[in-house]
Order: sequence, then C-alpha cells, then structure tokens
Amino acid sequence: MKALKGEDLKRVYLDYAATTPVRPEVIEAALPFFTEDWGNPSSIHAFGQAARAAVEEARGQVAALIGAKNKEEIYFTSGGTEADNWALKGIAFANRERGNHIITSRIEHHAILETCHYLEKQGFTVMYLPVDQYGMVDPDAVKNAVTPKTILISIMHANNEVGTIQPIAEIGKIARNAGVYLHTDAVQTAGHIPVEVNALGVDMLSVSGHKLYGPKGIGALYIRQGVKIEPLIHGGAQENSMRAGTENVPGIVGFGRAAELAAAEQPGEAARSTALRDELTRQILSTIKNTRLNGHPEKRLPNNVNISFDFVEGEPICLNLDLAGICVATGSACSSESAEASHVLLALDLTPAQARGSIRFTFGKWSTPADIKKVMEILPPTIARLRAISPLVKNTR
Ligand SMILES: *Cc1c(COP(=O)(O)O)cnc(C)c1O
Repeated sequence: MKALKGEDLKRVYLDYAATTPVRPEVIEAALPFFTEDWGNPSSIHAFGQAARAAVEEARGQVAALIGAKNKEEIYFTSGGTEADNWALKGIAFANRERGNHIITSRIEHHAILETCHYLEKQGFTVMYLPVDQYGMVDPDAVKNAVTPKTILISIMHANNEVGTIQPIAEIGKIARNAGVYLHTDAVQTAGHIPVEVNALGVDMLSVSGHKLYGPKGIGALYIRQGVKIEPLIHGGAQENSMRAGTENVPGIVGFGRAAELAAAEQPGEAARSTALRDELTRQILSTIKNTRLNGHPEKRLPNNVNISFDFVEGEPICLNLDLAGICVATGSACSSESAEASHVLLALDLTPAQARGSIRFTFGKWSTPADIKKVMEILPPTIARLRAISPLVKNTR
C-alpha cells in the first residue's frame, strides 16, 4: 500500500469512522473525469456520452456493494447527510395523507435527528426509541411503537460512535408486516460488513463515499422500486428526475471504484480489523484501571473501540494523544466544540461524566499492530497524568 501523507511523521490515524483517505486506485479512476472526459452526462455528444457511461458503471458498482438487483434503485447524492435528509423528508412529504408518525432511535446520526426535529416543526410526530446499555434497539419496541399513522421507521445499521450493529433484518420483517417504509443509515457499514438490501428488508439505505476510501461530497440513497418518495432537490431531469443538478462525475466515478474495491476486500479487511480492535480493547482494559468498553461487546463494527476513562475528560486525552501523533475522537468528532456529552453515550445510560471521558479509536486499511503499540506507550501515562490533576479522582488512578 502506497504511503499516506503524514506517514513520514509517524502519525497514527485511528479516526477512520470520521473519514478515510482516498485510495490511490480511486484517484486514478476519477482523474480522467477532470482532465479528459469532462463532459456533461446529459449532453448528446461524445464528451457527454463518455461521462454518462462512467456514471452508469459507478451506479452498478454501488448497487453491487449493497446487493441491489436493479442499479436504477441507486440515486447519487452529495453524501450521507443528504441521503438521510432525502429519505426522511421525501417519505414524510409524499405520504402525509397516509399518516404523520415516524419512528427512529435516540442514537441516530445528527443527519437523522436534526431532520426529525425539522419534521416535527412541520407537523410530524417522531418517536425516538431508547436503546439498551449496549446501544441496541429492541425490535419489539419498534413493533409496539407502530401506530396506524406510522409511515416510516429509520434505524441506523451501525452506530458511528460506539459501533453497535442493529437488528435491521428483524426490524425489516416488522416494517413489512406493518406496511411501513424502513430506512437505514448504512454509512458506517457499507463496505465494512456485509450489507444486502433484500436480506435487511429495507426500502431505503444511505451510503457515503468518504467512509469507504472514496471522495468526500458524494454518496447515494438506495430507493427500492415502487417506494413513494418526493425529490429533495428540484431542477433538471438528472437521476431519473429525482435528484436535480449536473452530476459530480469524478466523485461518482471515484465512489463507484471505491465501492467495487470495498466489496472485494470486505471479508479480509473485517477480519484484519477485528483482530486489531480486540487486541487494543484487551490491552486498554487490562492495563488502565477504571475503564470500560462502550457499545456491544460482540455485535459491533469490526473497526470500533470506544472506551470510557473514569475521572478524566475526553478532550484533554484527545489533545494529548494528538501532540504525540495519535489521532482519535471524543464525543462524535474530535473537533466537538461543545463540551456537551454525546447523545449516544447518554442514551447508553452513561453518566454525563463517563460520557465526556470517552475516546473512540477506529481502525482502517492502513492500521497495523504497530499503531496499538504506539497507543499503549502514550495512553497509560497520559491517563495517569490527567487523573493526577483531576478534581474528580477519588484516590485511584
Ligand atoms: C459520516 C456519517 C454520516 C454523514 O455522511 P456525510 O457523507 O459525511 O454527509 C451519516 N451517518 C453516519 C452514521 C455517519 O457516520
């Protein structure tokens, strides 16, 4: 694997859930669509047709990644956030005569939660289901929450902070029996664990390029044929008149190539990542006292380690690790300007202090056992130092 920028500085990047670097193969695939084949896919002439063919090939690659039989069910968007917005608003506005009730969970990404808050202002009612101590949604709770007015259930496939993988296939059966649409945010799972729209029983599914070594600013919404949904972006006839605007051709082509490679490498990468995940978890929990793993012990993303460190805040841990060249996340992003505790960790019944003292390590393609070694050199003394000056510490370290 070609060296990444920053590798010469021996920087350890353990924040792959925030974003991934673009793979060299993806850049190679996308580049000609900036330089040579820069046509508009809507044009009839040769330039347009080269771009059109590339967009359609990418559509097939993304369809294959998520097991969609018909590539026309893939609609390119500007990313995961737009796909989530579209699924929720599109279903809500197209089906309001049928009902105004939406079911989701308390641990969704902000792209879902803020859209739900917006829809509440538009007259919709949203049920935010609680989760158990591992961050798991109970399918029976979903079933019991369905009312005659329910039009949509949206539950994420796996959580971006704690990695818990939800029982979407079970929820899919409930949704189908109730005649309610099901959407899942699969941004953290597509390309990382098996994702198959028919096995999951979903009507809509969101994916994003930059979480699977593709470019930023490109994603897709899978919409099962026959689903009644309004467009979000109005204008030209692109994307089967469902998502207007001249296509981001290089982004789409890069996303398609990234999806193709992710699908081919998924089993091997997941196994490799799981070994790193379990080893780091074991070492932290056995070396540093007063720590706990957040999220489900087994039903979790292969690359996610989320640990609470008692008596300390996540932000100084994050900043101290950064000074030592180790990039990790606290809350939902290391940049988190607000000192507020993560809504996900609070939903798992952590105290605000425990939630604020949590760090997320996420592995990826360029992660190695040497990264764990580096973390275990720096992290224990960092925690000890921060606890020594912590007003929260109760004669333990
Ligand atoms: C990153 C992420 C998103 C947002 O995707 P963008 O492409 O960055 O807009 C949505 N949901 C989840 C679970 C994510 O991890």
